[in-house]
Amino acid sequence: MQIIDGKKTAADIREELRLKISEARETSDKVPGLVTILVGENPASKVYVNMKIKACSQIGMHSKLEKLDESISEEDLLKIIDDYNNDPLFHGILVQLPLPKHIDEDKVIESLNPQKDVDGFHPISVGKLVIGKDTFKSCTPFGIMELLKRYNIDTKGKHVVVVGRSNIVGKPIANMLVQKEEGANAVVTICHSAAPDLSVFTKQADILIAAVGRAHLITKEMVKDNVVIIDVGINSIDDPNSKKGYKLVGDVDFEGVSEKASYITPVPGGVGPMTIAMLLSNTFKAFKIIEN
Ligand code: NAP
Repeated sequence: MQIIDGKKTAADIREELRLKISEARETSDKVPGLVTILVGENPASKVYVNMKIKACSQIGMHSKLEKLDESISEEDLLKIIDDYNNDPLFHGILVQLPLPKHIDEDKVIESLNPQKDVDGFHPISVGKLVIGKDTFKSCTPFGIMELLKRYNIDTKGKHVVVVGRSNIVGKPIANMLVQKEEGANAVVTICHSAAPDLSVFTKQADILIAAVGRAHLITKEMVKDNVVIIDVGINSIDDPNSKKGYKLVGDVDFEGVSEKASYITPVPGGVGPMTIAMLLSNTFKAFKIIEN
């Protein structure tokens, strides 16, 4: 059984980007820029945003945090986004979700210039993904594709079972893997909470992707030998042995399933670190498109 090391892979990708950015700076005197828009004081959002900004600065990418008051009106927020849509210093715009209740998230995402949609949530990006056109791919599923590629895990003709159908993980990863192209071309099944017996599907998986948010939902009885496991879930469970009193685990019972798996992503340190790496990669892609 081989561990898929997302932490190392993400570090490799960041280093590759750092080199490309320093090359771009030397040849054109320009660097990619990412603006992150944070509305309100959600503590988890603040942590994520700070991680993104730190990651940008580590690879020489220009970044800015646009911190807005919780009470900002939808109209004012749309106006600010429009300014960034037209600001040549920023090639990527990220609006940290969730937004306060009085703001329509769909409207905000649709107001982004699709050329700067580095989160890949704009309907144009999603539509292009579904019909197999080049576009910005949303970062967590894009990170999964990159892990499969870099670990030489063949997906062609393989049965991939995705558990979870969210717009940020389940649906986009299924759409990426089903494309008739190199690195995809899989036979894909999507499961969700209405499946009467999940194990009927999971037992057939050559590659199982769990994006549910239920600790240890997938047990060793539910998978076949040599399965490749991609565990997207991040769940906090009580742990009296840890100082914090809790620990993070995935949707997969790592210990049990490891006995059968050929490859498995740990939690933490698997899919998680890839998300920011792919955000940086998308911002670099936006820079190349806009500046060329
Ligand atoms: P979500 O929007 O809550 O979607 C969960 C999906 O799981 C839904 O489609 C739901 O079905 C399905 N589901 C729930 N219980 C189920 C069950 N018992 N059997 C089968 N399907 C079930 O979650 P998400 O945003 O996709 O996130 C999923 C997990 O990934 C979370 O733990 C989240 O923290 C983690 N995550 C990690 C990263 C990262 O590593 N960077 C990024 C994003 C998310 P219905 O549609 O029928 O409700």
